[in-house]
Parts: sequence; C-alpha cells; structure tokens
Amino acid sequence: MTDPHLGRIVVTEDELQQRVRELGKELTSDYGGRPVLLVGVLKGAFMFMSDLARAVDLPVEFDFMSVASYGSATRTSGVVRILMDLDLDLSERHVLIVEDIVDSGLTLAYLRKNLAARGPASLEVCALLLKEGLQKVDPDIKYVGFRIPPDFVVGYGLDVGQRYRNLPYIIEYTGPDAE
Ligand code: 5GP
Repeated sequence: MTDPHLGRIVVTEDELQQRVRELGKELTSDYGGRPVLLVGVLKGAFMFMSDLARAVDLPVEFDFMSVASYGSATRTSGVVRILMDLDLDLSERHVLIVEDIVDSGLTLAYLRKNLAARGPASLEVCALLLKEGLQKVDPDIKYVGFRIPPDFVVGYGLDVGQRYRNLPYIIEYTGPDAE
C-alpha cells in the first residue's frame, strides 16, 4: 500500500529489532539482576516497551503513564499535563522511563523531575529515538536507540492523528501537519 504522506524509511524493521536486543543486553548487564520498573509513556512507547521488556533478562515490573503537552500537532510547548498517572509507588524501585522519541526534550525534562520527586532508588531514561540538535535542555539520556535527523517520523508506536502506529519501521511523515 503506497501512502503519499510517507517519505523515506529512517530506521528499518531489522535495525529496530537488532538495536532493541542490544539495549536489552546492556540493561541486563547494567542492572545486574536488580528488579527494574519500566515506566512506559503512552501511547507512543507501547511497542518499543513491549519489545524491550522481552529483550531484558531481569525481574521486570510494568507501569504506564500518559501525558499531553500543549502545542500544535507536531510541536511541543513544554507545558505538560498528566492524563493518566502511575499505579505503583516509586520509592525503593529502580525506575526506567521508556520514551518513544525525544525532540525538544521538554516532555522528558518534566517527566524526570516529576518522577524523581517520588523518591525512586534510581531513575534512568531509555529513549528509542533522539532527534539531533533540537534539545532545548540537556536530555541526559543513558540509553538511546537511534539518533535521527530532525524530521517528523511515524511508525513503531508513533502516530499522526492516531494513525501509522502499527508500521514495523520508522518512516518520515511528509503530509499535512508535518513541519
Ligand atoms: P519533546 O517534548 O521532546 O519536544 O517532544 C516529545 C514528544 O513529542 C514525543 O513523546 C512525541 O509524542 C512527540 N514527537 C516529537 N517528535 C515526534 C515525531 O517525529 N513524530 C511523532 N509521531 N511524535 C513526535
């Protein structure tokens, strides 16, 4: 099926799967058997989180939160509000925020501050995609899947207007709303 709003593939399905396996090995080694709480940021991170969780050989707990940032369809303003909060208490837990994509870094900066205030034993970030050169704040991300150019992308969990999340690769979006 050809879609005139999709451009070039930025990360292929094979590259995604291989990198997720590598990240899983790195996390397994870094956490050294300690249990980790994966905090998925919905909806975009759901596919990455499900693959990543199966690539780590650790005792894993899952929780999810959903945030929205005010702004246009494709640009964050940095003002974030929590639509759905976590179920679990973070104290004494090793928390790993699992993010789909970091653009300006404002959403992540807010999340990190918010979760750090809940007293976790440790707090790190694993982001599948980091857009090069666009961060307004130091994103301080320990685990990064891929550094990509600053184009708007969809697929593997990422959407435009709730579409394209099921594509098994990351692809440039060139249709309306893309900047
Ligand atoms: P930031 O706060 O880092 O500017 O933006 C992060 C959020 O904006 C991501 O979690 C994601 O929801 C959205 N976003 C940023 N860049 C893209 C992109 O290229 N494609 C899609 N689908 N969402 C993006």
